[in-house]
Amino acid sequence: LSERLSGVFDRLTKQGALSEDDVKTALREVRVALLEADVSLPVARDFVKAVQDKATGQAVTKSVTPGQQVVKIVHDELVHVLTGDEDPGKLKIDNPPAPILMVGLQGSGKTTTTAKLAKRLKERDGKRVLMASLDVNRPAAMEQLQILGVQIGVDTLPIVKGEDPVQIAKRAKTQASLGGYDVYMLDTAGRLHIDEELIAQAAAVRDVANPRETLLVVDGLTGQDAVNVATEFDDKIGVTGVVLTRMDGDGRGGAALSMRAVTGKPIRFVGLGEKMDALETFEPERISGRILGMGDIVALVEKAQETLEVEQAERMMRRFTKGQFNMNDLKSQLEQMMKMGGMEGMMSMMPGAAKMSKQMDGAGIDDKMLTRQVALIQSMTKKERANPALLQASRKKRIARGAGMEVSDLNKLLKMHRQMADMMKKMGKMGKGGMLKQAMK
Ligand code: GDP
Ligand code: MG
Repeated sequence: LSERLSGVFDRLTKQGALSEDDVKTALREVRVALLEADVSLPVARDFVKAVQDKATGQAVTKSVTPGQQVVKIVHDELVHVLTGDEDPGKLKIDNPPAPILMVGLQGSGKTTTTAKLAKRLKERDGKRVLMASLDVNRPAAMEQLQILGVQIGVDTLPIVKGEDPVQIAKRAKTQASLGGYDVYMLDTAGRLHIDEELIAQAAAVRDVANPRETLLVVDGLTGQDAVNVATEFDDKIGVTGVVLTRMDGDGRGGAALSMRAVTGKPIRFVGLGEKMDALETFEPERISGRILGMGDIVALVEKAQETLEVEQAERMMRRFTKGQFNMNDLKSQLEQMMKMGGMEGMMSMMPGAAKMSKQMDGAGIDDKMLTRQVALIQSMTKKERANPALLQASRKKRIARGAGMEVSDLNKLLKMHRQMADMMKKMGKMGKGGMLKQAMK
């Protein structure tokens, strides 16, 4: 995406705000990127439409192109859509034994994910977990789960030949209660395609187990198809969350957006390999960057916004070292102090801090004073702020009263301003190798 976009974006002019044309041009490419990432067509279309309304008219940050800015907005919106209300890593598994039902097509990674999740619940949450395979269709399926169970040190329900899935589910429930398990996981059979029998079987198991969580396991590489699968399972079985597997592959993970947009169900985990610890909590930021293939652009825009603030700070510092430190500067310094966590935060970042800190103690500054001092400066005229020496007794009285303070407070503030201005000037004179220069790096 980055390459293709930059071609288009280079032609865009830099303006104060994003024009409708800027946004449209950029979003055409974004739409293609979404489709390439296997986001389903209607989802991509709706998404782009929503972003278009948000982006038009937004201010463009200096030093990035309008196109890059649009991509940042797209990224933020993607993250927004992908972020659910709940913490994806936190399953509803209070009231032991809590059943978790695993559903999905054959080969999607249900059995693997069941074991991965069991391991996670055991190790992270200290849960006692029982796993049961309900897959009576494939001969080796039950043994597969059993072997994984031994490997990760999680119990599996003993295999009894000839039972149907509902019978196994009942036995798992009983065993989980009697055995004092916190969680029991039901790993169902899948088929290559959704059909009535698959759904009927899963529904019957659901009715027996009454699961707290029903996790739909979907191959993250399947793309467009994933949406139909998700819709069907959710309609017929009722899904509480989605696990995307094979996200270690080359796929762009567009299924995440489609699935979220169409079903509204949270994506809980992603599978990142065949190993038992290759399961991670879903992170919208990461998937969003991957879908757009442009993590670098987002970082760039964020950097540009930071740089702008640094540039402003540097400009101020240069003026200070020339002895130009007026009341407006003091005001923004005071406001900055409040933002940075008061005096201590500020002092730790300033050169010559120890000495100045002592002098300011004398001037009677504490964090509560900051707000009031800003108020004092605000009561001054523009001229007075530029040159506080202009202030005469009558004006001082009025300013102090206007800010609800005493003249002595104002005098302290003025004294502090003089001291700071002196200090800045001295530090500036220390020359090229001086402290200020170094502190600015
Ligand atoms: P099930 O039929 O849904 O139970 O699928 P399985 O759990 O048996 O998995 C099918 C295959 O996919 C196995 O070879 C797994 O090792 C593999 N697999 C499962 N999850 C992942 C994953 O996240 N990444 C990769 N690369 N392979 C996976
Ligand atoms: Mg299986």
